[in-house]
This record gives sequence, C-alpha cells and structure tokens, in this order.
Amino acid sequence: MFTKTNHLIKALAQRAAVFQQCAMSTHIGSSLMTIPESHEMLRKTCRDFADRELKPVAAQLDKSHQYPIDLVKKLGDLGLMCVEVGEELGGSGLDSLAYAIAMEEISRGCASCGVIMSAHNSLYIGPLVKYGNEKQIDQFVKPFLHGERVGCFALSEPGNGSDAGAASTVVKEHDQSTYVMNGTKAWITNAHEAEAAVVFATTDKSLKHKGISAFIVKKGTEGFSLGKKEDKLGIRASSTSNLIFEDCVFPKENLLGKKGDGFKIAMTTLDSGRIGIAGQALGIAQAALDCAVDYAQKRQVFGKQLTQLQAIQMKLADMEMRLQSARLLTWKAAALKCQGEPFTKFAAMAKLAASECATFNAHQAIQILGGMGYVSDMPAERHYRDARITEIYEGTSEIQRLVIAGNLIKEYSATSS
Ligand SMILES: Cc1cc2nc3c(=O)[nH]c(=O)nc-3n(C[C@H](O)[C@H](O)[C@H](O)COP(=O)(O)OP(=O)(O)OC[C@H]3O[C@@H](n4cnc5c(N)ncnc54)[C@H](O)[C@@H]3O)c2cc1C
Repeated sequence: MFTKTNHLIKALAQRAAVFQQCAMSTHIGSSLMTIPESHEMLRKTCRDFADRELKPVAAQLDKSHQYPIDLVKKLGDLGLMCVEVGEELGGSGLDSLAYAIAMEEISRGCASCGVIMSAHNSLYIGPLVKYGNEKQIDQFVKPFLHGERVGCFALSEPGNGSDAGAASTVVKEHDQSTYVMNGTKAWITNAHEAEAAVVFATTDKSLKHKGISAFIVKKGTEGFSLGKKEDKLGIRASSTSNLIFEDCVFPKENLLGKKGDGFKIAMTTLDSGRIGIAGQALGIAQAALDCAVDYAQKRQVFGKQLTQLQAIQMKLADMEMRLQSARLLTWKAAALKCQGEPFTKFAAMAKLAASECATFNAHQAIQILGGMGYVSDMPAERHYRDARITEIYEGTSEIQRLVIAGNLIKEYSATSS
C-alpha cells in the first residue's frame, strides 16, 4: 500500500512541477486564495495517513516516550522523509508548499512524528543537499531518504542557544587528513536515533560567527557519545539529547561547504526549517480546534449544546481566525521560497504566528472542554504540551520578532535611500 502511495506522491511531484510554473504565482503569490490541485491531493494523502496510522497511537507514544520507529519507516515509504530532495537523487521532488502542507497534516495526527520529520528533512537533509559535494550526498543523503536512517542538526550548546554565533565546540586540525572535535551540543532532536549529525563548531573563536564551520559526524565515531534523553513537557515520542565530543577524530572530507561558512549554513537552514515548524504548529492548532468543536457539539450545559453559547462561539471564532491567518502566512513564505524570492521575514512571521496560534488554540480547547480538557482521556492536554515547544525551537518567538524587525527596517532603509 505504501509503495502505491509513494507512486502517488511521485506523480504529484511531476504535476506539481507543472503547477509550480503557473498556479503558484497566480494563486499563492498574489491572491493567497487557493493551493494547486496537486497539493490538495497531497494534503488528502497525508491526512488519511495521519487519521489511520498516527491519531490512534499518538497518546500512547506520548505516554511511553517511545520513538515510533515503524511509523518513521512508513513516513519514509510515503516519500515524506525526503520531501524537497530532487527526484534525480531519489527524493520526492516536491516543493516547500508541499512540505508545509505535509508537516501540518502529519503533526495534526502526531506532533512528535512532525518534529522527527522536520528535523530530518529541513535540518539534516536540507543543508547536505544544498552545500554537500557529490561524495557527501552519496554517503550522507542517499541512504537517508526512506526512513531507514535519520539524521540530526547540532547548533545549540548548553551555554548558547539564541546566540548561535557564540559556539564553543572547537575543531582543530589533527593531522593531514583528519580534524579533532571537542565540546557539547545541547537539545538535539533525533539524537538517539541519528546515524549522522551536521555539527556546527568553531575553528577560531576570535573570529566569532565567521570562525564557525559545519561538519558531518557519523554515529559510532570514537569520542562521540550521547547524553541522557531529556524528559520533556511535550513531543515526548521524539528524542532530545546532548551530543558530546571528546577528542573525536573524523575525516577532513566531512567539512560541509567552505571553512568559515557554518554560520551562513545554519541561518539559511533555519530559514527553511521555520516553514516546517510553522506547518507543525498549524497541525497542532488545527487538532486543538477539531477537538474543541467536536466536544462542543456533543456537550450539553444548562439544557443547551456548548456550540449554542456565544461565549464558546467567540472562542471558536478567534481560534479559526488565527489559524487561517497563520496558514496563509505559512503558504506565502513557502511560495516565496518556491519562486526563489527572499523569504527570511515571511518564514519568521509564519513561525511566530503559527506557534502563537498553536499555544492559543490549545489553551482555548482546554477551556472549552472544562475538566475533560485537563485529563489525558482527551487529546487537548497533549496538544497544549506539544504546542509550547513551537515557540522555542528553531528560534524563540523573541528571536523571530528580532528577525522580522531587522528585515523590515532594512526594507524601509532601502526605499528611503
Ligand atoms: C525539545 C527541543 C528540541 C530542540 N532541538 C534542537 C535541535 O535539533 N538542534 C539544535 O541545534 N537545537 C535544538 N533545540 C534548541 C533550541 O533551538 C533552543 O532551546 C532555542 O534556540 C533557545 O535557546 P536557549 O534554550 O539557549 O535559550 P536562550 O538563548 O538562553 O534564551 C532564553 C530566553 O531569552 C530570550 N532571548 C535570548 N536572546 C534574546 C534577545 N537578543 N532579545 C530578546 N530576548 C532574547 C529567549 O527568547 C528566551 O526567552 C531544541 C530545544 C528543545 C527544547
């Protein structure tokens, strides 16, 4: 069945390429009214999969903190672990809009699966395809496309998260053909399952962010170990851990891009990643709204259905309005990326709006459910816990506001000079 669906996704990719030429600019770029039919078909495929395979097990995965190895393989069979990788490399060949839509639908079913998919697609595969050479792509991309292997992205450290340019993990030349790495990277998604990591480290701290380079380090390399699995508030079926490097020696050919380009690689990777996290947040926000409406249609209070009370209607209206607004921003960011236009500001706005909407909707859903919102018999409390992280990783909401304001001021300065 999954091979059949994979063919469907491949067929969609071909149609999407045609649509991208015409439909993307007319529908998404300008009026923001509709998405191409091919993308609607992708949405339906992902939604059916989420309803059938993810929703029924999401609560148990959350409770047991269990990494969903079989589901990740199924995501791989569907072509969702290589969404934006070109078909010539064996990927699904879809675009950023398709990625945002797939992220939303998968996260609507299970936010943990959403983050596993997003860390792998945007943060690991993304920079390798963009900056990797042929040998690196053969070794670290092609075997990672179908869910058998996942990768991770290691930028944050115990001493610096938002201030990524202050990396203190150090890489030095070891001999003619190898480097040696020392330091600790913190909070790394997929750490325990990843077969390889894109790691950011400095070769010269005095150069600040210009001294940072990106390296690929394989699991099992001597001197590379993992910290404890963090016990998290939400997205509990995904693993999060420290990566520890103690005199870890690895080949020089694992330098990704040019020496000193690491900060640029990290920032461009996060720009794209934020579209994926916006998608994840939309999925959580939609799931919270679905749960609230479903409950409100069934629950009777004072002889009336909850949906008949205006106080409840006001809440539902606000939830829907924020969700639709955030989705349009997300599609706009994705459309700009598809068209090769600058999209940093829109990706930050999409991530900010969608993550704040996820938190808002999950909060309101609990309120609408009353006591039932507070217990794990219903999914509302899980949505509330899952939503919170979307305001923190890949840049906190404060950092998104700095990115938006920085770009906005630059645009004004350019038009006034
Ligand atoms: C579950 C989880 C998964 C993660 N996955 C990954 C991963 O896969 N790879 C990875 O590299 N990292 C990952 N992270 C790390 C994440 O990106 C950082 O936690 C995040 O960037 C914030 O960094 P910090 O925790 O060091 O907070 P800090 O940078 O210490 O910030 C603390 C507070 O200060 C605010 N602040 C900081 N600077 C400013 C400023 N200039 N102006 C205004 N306010 C500011 C922040 O917004 C925040 O509210 C993950 C984190 C978690 C919790």
